[in-house]
Amino acid sequence: MKKSQPTRMCITCRSRHPQHTLIRLQQKGTEVVIFEGMGRSFYLCDTCVRDEKKIKGLAKRLRQDFERFTEFLGQLTR
Ligand SMILES: [Zn+2]
Repeated sequence: MKKSQPTRMCITCRSRHPQHTLIRLQQKGTEVVIFEGMGRSFYLCDTCVRDEKKIKGLAKRLRQDFERFTEFLGQLTR
């Protein structure tokens, strides 16, 4: 029997991806940070993370400073 991989939905494009390919983040106070194991988290897929337009929309939605947010995500995907 084929073991099915756990999938999670990307917050931006709303499509499902294998969990291990996604970036897991959480909101901590006013900042978005890497998921620390507690609290509510959300996922961002590898495609969206490189899509400036989508990141812009997401930054707005999460009330993040666009430049800081882009830099933060850039560090994660480097
Ligand atoms: Zn996505």
